[in-house]
Amino acid sequence: MSPQNSLFDNHSAPPILPEGVIYRPKALIGHEKPLTTALKGVLAAAPPSQARTRGGGLTSAAMTNCGRVGWWSDARGYRYQAQRPDTGASWPPIPSEFFAAVREVMAKTPWPAFNPDACLINSYGPGTKMGLHQDRDEKDFSQPILTVCLGDDADFLVGGFSRADKVVSFVVSSGDALIMGGASRMRFHGIRKIYPGTSPISDIAGRYSLTFRKAL
Ligand code: MN
Repeated sequence: MSPQNSLFDNHSAPPILPEGVIYRPKALIGHEKPLTTALKGVLAAAPPSQARTRGGGLTSAAMTNCGRVGWWSDARGYRYQAQRPDTGASWPPIPSEFFAAVREVMAKTPWPAFNPDACLINSYGPGTKMGLHQDRDEKDFSQPILTVCLGDDADFLVGGFSRADKVVSFVVSSGDALIMGGASRMRFHGIRKIYPGTSPISDIAGRYSLTFRKAL
């Protein structure tokens, strides 16, 4: 039975995850409203668009950023930039509502003082996905990456340290938080599929991931 038709909680059987992958289902349920309002503001200021990959194709998900720098991809490669390459505009700042959520999630982790300077926002519509990849454009890999999920459910993949390694797949839902840090900071990860129409937030169609990084 597919998750969108299931009467059962997707999280009734929590996956066994490797050390350094910290999954907190529903950790941010209480923050969904302020996060959504703040997200709408960021999306209005910096509308997401598909990015060009080094191979010349387009990313499946559309992307935008907020923060001092934003992650971007084009023919010149993958990097963080203070200005948006396609328009030259600065990215909007990370909203205070985002920082409040970050502080709450990170408080009881090995990185309680995590202070992101970049938030890459991926917008996943029906049929979009994100292939297995490593986040490796940040300066300091001792800093974790925090993903906050809003909107539709999705299958999240966590792999090993080479693309061909075995992956664990589990469903992430709106209000969930997922940290990859420490020994798992460089694991391959991706989004296999979105479950359209499962967003519990009336204001959000599709799935947004807010991925917080200390890039500089
Ligand atoms: Mn990533």
